[in-house]
Amino acid sequence: MQIGKYKLTVVNTGFFRLDGGAMFGIIPKNLWQKTNPPDKQNRIKLATRNLLLENGKRKILIDTGMGTKWNDKAKAIYDIDQAKHSIEISLGELNIRPEAITDVILTHLHFDHTGGSTKSENEKIVPTFPNAKYYVQKKNYKWAMNPSERDRGSYIKENFLPLSNEGVLKLIDGKEKFDDEIDFIIINGHTFAQQLLKISDSKNTVLYCCDLFPTTSHIPLPYVMGYDLQPLVTVEEKKKILPLAVDENWKLFFAHDPEIVCATVVNTEKGFKVGEKFNELR
Ligand SMILES: [Zn+2]
Repeated sequence: MQIGKYKLTVVNTGFFRLDGGAMFGIIPKNLWQKTNPPDKQNRIKLATRNLLLENGKRKILIDTGMGTKWNDKAKAIYDIDQAKHSIEISLGELNIRPEAITDVILTHLHFDHTGGSTKSENEKIVPTFPNAKYYVQKKNYKWAMNPSERDRGSYIKENFLPLSNEGVLKLIDGKEKFDDEIDFIIINGHTFAQQLLKISDSKNTVLYCCDLFPTTSHIPLPYVMGYDLQPLVTVEEKKKILPLAVDENWKLFFAHDPEIVCATVVNTEKGFKVGEKFNELR
């Protein structure tokens, strides 16, 4: 898919599982399990789906997935499956070497979005993309360095501290435009200062909607994750963004839906629902 000067390509970086109850907050299991069947441990399957934006000069990666620095115990807890898709495999299939990535935009520093930003090399943790500048919101970085007891498990410092130490992590302070086609939408319900990416030209808009709408099942307003730090703020953020998505025919790009890459949204008598679903970006 082409938007303005950018070619957009899906980069699948694997699958993992999280507790279905935590993924759906107050929604009863007998509702969410219809679309997201849990395994014996009550976990549902989730993708880590990233996006590559290329023009003649830049190769910009949006988020980096779980990465490969996991021990066997953690791999089992999250059922991490990178047999067919990982950041290395998927970029390799596109004939893109890690050295060729010029920019990595991180929506936020949760481990399932930034794990692939660093890798273990000769017992040292180093940036995976040696020539890239990495970007994240300053407020999210500050929070990640000192999270609460409740969300401490979601931020693993080896995913981002080495970037800061190497001087390649640029902290953005609320700046809302990255390039002509790329705007940031900063939201605070899920964590503090998560930046969604709105990629648009005069014809098409794709919203990398990240953990505001992790899957197609999360479009209706009350479907808010138990992980969210401020769930009522998330509801307000959804109420602001969904009418725009309907009116301007945006495609929401899902970072975690196990099957659907992107979809439109419709407003019905029963509220906002997923519209047309796509298995590829087009
Ligand atoms: Zn998150």
